[in-house]
Amino acid sequence: MTSIAERIAVVQSRIGLACEFSGRDPRDVQLLAISKGQPVEAIREAAAAGQRAFGENYLVEALVKIEALRELELEWHFTGPIQSNKTRRLAEHFAWAHSVDRLKVAERLSEQRAAGAPSLNICIQVNISGEKSKAGVAPQETEALCRAVAALPRLKLRGLMVIPAPSADKDAQRNAYAATRALYLDLLEAGLTLDTLSMGMSADLDSAIAEGATIVRVGTDIFGPRQE
Ligand SMILES: *Cc1c(COP(=O)(O)O)cnc(C)c1O
Repeated sequence: MTSIAERIAVVQSRIGLACEFSGRDPRDVQLLAISKGQPVEAIREAAAAGQRAFGENYLVEALVKIEALRELELEWHFTGPIQSNKTRRLAEHFAWAHSVDRLKVAERLSEQRAAGAPSLNICIQVNISGEKSKAGVAPQETEALCRAVAALPRLKLRGLMVIPAPSADKDAQRNAYAATRALYLDLLEAGLTLDTLSMGMSADLDSAIAEGATIVRVGTDIFGPRQE
């Protein structure tokens, strides 16, 4: 069996290759290890291999791990659906929220973030493939939401996050990421200050990097199958 450290090294070299291929600096692409469904020991192992940023999707599960690993001072990112009645502990314990898709959630996070804490970094989740039952704001409503979030105290709007419709077709994947990049560039053009495109997972991080991803979110390729 391959160790987590070896798997992280493989993912890092994939990131390096994808960057080389598209003429990008690998320092501009951050690896976020998605540890949902994984035990505390697996996170410890990844941390020992130098991984600092971890993403979790379920608040209750995440809080147990954050508490158990407190002394490691890891950087925690929330990447799952956010229920508006469960924002407080997210605001208290995370450095980033990638999945904000409505103003009400952002307002609550802003109110509940401690005044002395660093700003909570925010990505707006966009429903880029226009799936009916999918989380995320519609592309045409993204600018208005970004402007409203950027105006809130104690939050720092960083960029966009997408989870495109799953597809084995490389072109379809690439098109969804290209559409995200185009939207991002429109927002910059419109005067918003953004520096983050959170996109790409185990199966398709290469396509995402080719389209400008600055954070890739990788679970399975680091930790193996989840215990869910
Ligand atoms: C589970 C998950 C990932 C990681 O997916 P893998 O295919 O295991 O790499 C990335 N982002 C989000 C939002 C997820 O829920």
